[in-house]
Amino acid sequence: MISEKVNQIGASPTLKITAKARAMKAEGIDIVDLSVGEPDFPTPDNAKAAGIRAIEQNYTKYTENEGIPALKNAVIVRMKDDYGLSYELNEVIVSPGAKASLFLILQALVDEGAEVIVPAPYWVTYPMAVMLAKGKPVIIPTKEEKGFLLAPDELKAAINPSTKAMILNNPSNPTGAAYSKAQLEALAEVIKGEDIYVIADEIYAKLIFDDFQFTSFASLGEDIKKKTVVVTGVSKSYSMTGWRIGCALGPAEIINGMAKVQSHSTSNPCSISQYASLEALTGPQHEVSRMAAEFQRRRNYCLMRLRAIPNISCFKPQGAFYLFPNFSYYYDKEASGIQIRNSYGLAYYLLKEARVAIVPGDSFGADSHIRISYATSMENLEKGLDRIIEAVSKLKTPKKIKRVALNNAVTRVKKSVPVDSSVNLKMRDALVGEMESTLTPESYFEWNANINGVIVQLRTNVSHLYDFWVENWYPAQLEADLEPHGIIFAVDGIAGREARVFYNSESKTGVIVNADNYGPLRSLALGLVMDVSERLFGVHGVRGMSVDVEGKGLIFVGPPGTKKTELFFQLLEDRRFRLHSNDIAFVRNAAGQALADCVERKLYIPTNTVESFPRLAALFDSSRCENVITHKEDCKDAECLRLDDCRLDRGSPFCYKASKEAHAMLDPYWLGGKAAHTKRTSLRWFFILRNDTLSPAVVKLEKGEALRILEAGESAGMKRTLSPSKPQPYYNPHLLFATEGHLELQRNFYSRLLDVTSCYLFNSGIADAEQIKQIVLGEG
Ligand code: PMP
Repeated sequence: MISEKVNQIGASPTLKITAKARAMKAEGIDIVDLSVGEPDFPTPDNAKAAGIRAIEQNYTKYTENEGIPALKNAVIVRMKDDYGLSYELNEVIVSPGAKASLFLILQALVDEGAEVIVPAPYWVTYPMAVMLAKGKPVIIPTKEEKGFLLAPDELKAAINPSTKAMILNNPSNPTGAAYSKAQLEALAEVIKGEDIYVIADEIYAKLIFDDFQFTSFASLGEDIKKKTVVVTGVSKSYSMTGWRIGCALGPAEIINGMAKVQSHSTSNPCSISQYASLEALTGPQHEVSRMAAEFQRRRNYCLMRLRAIPNISCFKPQGAFYLFPNFSYYYDKEASGIQIRNSYGLAYYLLKEARVAIVPGDSFGADSHIRISYATSMENLEKGLDRIIEAVSKLKTPKKIKRVALNNAVTRVKKSVPVDSSVNLKMRDALVGEMESTLTPESYFEWNANINGVIVQLRTNVSHLYDFWVENWYPAQLEADLEPHGIIFAVDGIAGREARVFYNSESKTGVIVNADNYGPLRSLALGLVMDVSERLFGVHGVRGMSVDVEGKGLIFVGPPGTKKTELFFQLLEDRRFRLHSNDIAFVRNAAGQALADCVERKLYIPTNTVESFPRLAALFDSSRCENVITHKEDCKDAECLRLDDCRLDRGSPFCYKASKEAHAMLDPYWLGGKAAHTKRTSLRWFFILRNDTLSPAVVKLEKGEALRILEAGESAGMKRTLSPSKPQPYYNPHLLFATEGHLELQRNFYSRLLDVTSCYLFNSGIADAEQIKQIVLGEG
């Protein structure tokens, strides 16, 4: 498993879209790529020649960590000439790109949890780089009507004692908006009174239009200069993106901190590129103004074309090379079977229908917009805009929109929660006291479930848990008429506590603190019921997926990664098999049979099972759901993200397979009544699954061997090698205890169970459901 901090960030969407456009081009599709973030001009000849000279002169070794002094000097001279700013050599660092400079600044400044203010629309990298520094990006939206500029009072309101810095991108990617000197001064007034730094990303400073006068934030006075780190570089102004040279200027202490991080990451930036950049900065500058003039001409053209599209608005940029039109009027329209609901949908539609690549505004924190780059030839722009305009003109409001009103609860906690089942009575009383003091009459739900004859009372303040609880189980008698066998408190909103499950076996009391998702509650209830019924009734929970064929049952058990779900649903495709239970069967050995009961009224089933059994989607549409993904940014499906066939892109308001954590409460009778589901079966076949490529497909197991494998939780799934999970006795994560006494009870139970069932070790890595059918139907 990769780290949480990396897991939570996405790769750059621009790169993904550009890669997709390139791949389509390679297939021979004529794509107009308006997604690029780099000038389409060549690197100036003098800079190129300087790079070649550097190679010839063997300047191909490590350089000074912070960059060669000559280049740092050249940067200093530029800042002096252009903005009257004075910097010393120890106040400059050269890095492999402005992106690296930003990364280093954030590493140097940000402690865990520190806040960094990021006005939106923002360049996609800012929030991600803050998160990688373990800081917290605080996004402040700006308005199109206000020129996408941050107002001083908005800045002031966002600052608190945790604020470490703000990022000010001037001119901006993606909007092209730029701040005038007066506007910057107003922001500087706020900064002066606060203990925060400004990271001024001025990479587009030279690419400005009309008569706009650019002001560097650091030039607003000595006190502001001390709080500002300016980021700049040669990528954009000199069309040198691939050379990877950027730099930062600011207080020596910060630059020194950045240098330390650089010394342990990239060392110095590329030596050859440094000599080329030195020439770019010190040589003739006419290429820069020629480029800016050309961008201005293209901006004017594109703006004119875009503004002619009905019902869109487009801000007129003063710099950079992007337009950021608002297309939200088209977000409920459709054409060619593609429904547009957001900027991703529009991007998808334009790529497929118009063969134009643009970047969805959502990646810049502004979903109403898309980003169009005009860093490409006039010819391409004309072609691209013709195509966009034609594709947009085809978009129509659908006559009748079939909308599924998804009944979806989104929970704060999504995963399983640590369980402490060693709670003594004294601790139990203290915990229950704490829970009861939080449960108030205004939000209190109580309901007795009858789980295979064991009565479990839920007391909770989470309405979602109550809803799922009531659907999951059969009802017991009225609360007033009976003593439950066990009680579970599920209380959310307890200050200062982590999400956690506690259990005291003597009093059969469970306590769930601050977990609002259903999984931990269901699992605890099953654990409690097993705790009661294994001794009291001799009934045991067998964790597995079970099906019935003509009154005879088979169950699959095994660790994750052994394709239980696939096999289960492959059998269910064959109408001779009926669903029994998708997670646990409660089994009693009676009269020479192993009678297995499905104790759940509705089944708590991961919605990504639609992959194995597409028929379920329609049933989930009418079920209560939990954590189904409704927003592309929340999609965790790596496989899907790699492909470009996303349901959400194509206009679906949600996706059942985008997250492993999404569940539905499924009524199994909806699969086809009694012909498709049975509550009771008599177990005959016991399949222990493993998944590898070497073991034999099917091995019939002797009882002793089967017992040993089961108790050790020994067989392996494919996923185990990637993220080894602890072997669980009997593959049962719901069991609350693995003490010798409990294991002895289990051993006796499974020993009797294996007397009346045939047990197989089945390798799902090489065998499939057909082999199971042969065994079952052949033997049966
Ligand atoms: N800042 C902004 C606002 C940018 O748009 C970019 C490039 N897209 C960068 C920094 C990074 O530039 P470099 O290529 O020098 O890393």
